[in-house]
Amino acid sequence: MKTVIIGAGFSGLSAACYMARAGHEVVLLEKNAAPGGRARQLVRDGFRFDMGPTFYWMPDLIEAFFADFGKTPKDYYELLRLDPSYEIVFGPDDRLALPAGPRAVGELFERIEPGSGRFLSDFLRSARYNYRVAVDKVIHKPGDSALELLMPETLARVPQFLLSLRHTVRRGVKDERLRRILEFPALFLGARPDNTPSFYRFMNHADMGLGTWHIAGGMVRLVEALKQLAESLGARILTEQPAREIVVAADRAVGVRTPQAFFEADTVISSADYRHTERLLPSACRNYSEMYWQHRVFAPSALIYYIGFGRRLERVSHHTLFFDTSFEEHAAKIYDSPGWPDKPLFYASFPSQSDPTLCPAGCEMAIILIPTAAGLPDTPAVRERYYHQVMDRMEALTRQKLRGHVLFRESYAASDFVRDYHAAKGNAYGLANILTQTAFMRPKIRNRKLPNLFYTGQLTVPGAGVPTALVSGKLAAGCALSRIAIPCPHETYDYGSTLR
Ligand SMILES: Cc1cc2nc3c(=O)[nH]c(=O)nc-3n(C[C@H](O)[C@H](O)[C@H](O)COP(=O)(O)OP(=O)(O)OC[C@H]3O[C@@H](n4cnc5c(N)ncnc54)[C@H](O)[C@@H]3O)c2cc1C
Repeated sequence: MKTVIIGAGFSGLSAACYMARAGHEVVLLEKNAAPGGRARQLVRDGFRFDMGPTFYWMPDLIEAFFADFGKTPKDYYELLRLDPSYEIVFGPDDRLALPAGPRAVGELFERIEPGSGRFLSDFLRSARYNYRVAVDKVIHKPGDSALELLMPETLARVPQFLLSLRHTVRRGVKDERLRRILEFPALFLGARPDNTPSFYRFMNHADMGLGTWHIAGGMVRLVEALKQLAESLGARILTEQPAREIVVAADRAVGVRTPQAFFEADTVISSADYRHTERLLPSACRNYSEMYWQHRVFAPSALIYYIGFGRRLERVSHHTLFFDTSFEEHAAKIYDSPGWPDKPLFYASFPSQSDPTLCPAGCEMAIILIPTAAGLPDTPAVRERYYHQVMDRMEALTRQKLRGHVLFRESYAASDFVRDYHAAKGNAYGLANILTQTAFMRPKIRNRKLPNLFYTGQLTVPGAGVPTALVSGKLAAGCALSRIAIPCPHETYDYGSTLR
C-alpha cells in the first residue's frame, strides 16, 4: 500500500512514522529545501536560530509520541528544564521571573499578593485535572462529532466552557502582573483570554506544572529526531517537491503531482495548510468554500526578527516577555479592527543565555516576535519601523546599548509565511482555539468526498503547537488506517520522572 504525505512539518513527519510502521510504503513530499515546516532553522555566520517554536511545552505528549515507537526523547536529544521558565518585563524596574515548579510559583504569588497563593494552588489543581481530561479524553479524538465531547468529566465542567479564563483569573487575583502571568498561556491557543473558555486553564498546568524545557541545540533537534525515526521505519522524505495537484479519479485520490513527477497513492495525507490543500483539489472535492475561510478566526501571524549580537547581553532571560504596554490595545489590533499596533507587546528569546552552543563564543542571539493580525500586508518600511521600536524599548527596559552590537538581522513576516508555507492569510499558528473552533468544530481530518484523503496539522484537530501537531499526525494516520481514532495509550503517564 502506498501513502503519499504532503508536507514535512511535525504533523506530516508524525503521520509518516505511523503509516510506515503500519507497513505502508510512505513518500513524504516537502516543498522547501529542509523538513521541519514552521520549525526550520536559520543558520547564519555561526548563529543557529529556531525560526518558529521555541517553547518546548507538554513534554509528556512528545514523550508519549516516541514511546509509541519504543523510543524516548533521550535517544535523540538532551532536555533541559528552564528555571526561570520565563521572565516578564512590565517596566524598567518592574519584572518578574517565573520560577520552575508550582510551589515556587505559589511562594512568588504569595509574596506579591497575600492570599493569592491559595487561589493559585486551587486553580492549578483544577488546571491539572482539566489537562488530564483534555489529553486523555479529548485531544486524541478525530473531531468527527460533538458526541466525542460528551462525557461525565466535561459535563461536570460545563460552567468552565461558558466563563472566560480572564473572568476566573480576575476574580482570583487582583495584582495586574499576576493576572497577566495567568492569562499568558491563553496566547498559546492563538486567542485572547477574554475569549478563551476557563476550561482551557489546562494550559496553566502545561506552563506551571509541566514546565518550560529546552532541547540542547534547539527545536531543530526534534525535527531531526522525527526525520531519523521516519526514515528508520522506511519512509522516504523528498525535499523541494512542491505538490501542485492531488489527482482524483473515480472518487478517490490516486496520487500527487509535483513539477518533477507523479506519485501514485492508495492513501494521501496532507499536512500543508488546510486551505492550500483544498486548492490542490478539483473544487467539487473540497470540504470547504473560500467563504468558509473568510469567516474563520485566525490565530495571529507574527513579525519576527532574528538578530546576532557581537557580545553577551545583560538583564535578559532565555524567554523574555515585554509586557510594558497595553495588552487590550494590542489585542484589539489583532482581533477587533486588524491593523498595525502602535505599541505592541512582544516576546524575545535569547536562547544563547542557556545554550551557548547556538552561537559563536562571546556572542548573543535574539529572536524577537511581535504577534500581528493575520492578513495584514507587511512592507520593508513596516519591518524597519518596528525593528527600531523594539530596539528602543529593549534598550530602555534592559538598560544597555544594543544597536551598536548588532552583527546582522533578518526579518520574517506574514508574506514569508505565505511564500514558505502557503499559509492562509499568512497565519503563523493556524486557527484561534476559541470555543466555536474547538474539537469537532475545527476543519475535519477526513475529506467528505474522497475516502482515502486526510488532512493533518495545525488547522485541523487538535490545534496549533508542536506536541499537538504530533497528535494530529497520529490522528490522521489512525483515520487512514482504521477509520477510527487511535486511543491514547498513555492515560496515566507520569510526565516528570523520566525526562531529567
Ligand atoms: C513563529 C512561531 C512560533 C511558535 N512557537 C511555538 C512554541 O513556542 N511552542 C509550540 O509548541 N508551538 C509553537 N508554534 C506552533 C508550531 O510551530 C506549529 O503549530 C507546528 O509546527 C505546525 O506544524 P504543522 O505540521 O501543522 O505545519 P507546518 O510546520 O506548517 O508544516 C507544513 C509543511 O507543509 C509544507 N507544504 C506546504 N505546501 C506544500 C506543498 N504544496 N507541497 C509540499 N509541501 C508543502 C510546508 O513547507 C511545511 O513544511 C509556533 C509557530 C510559529 C510560526
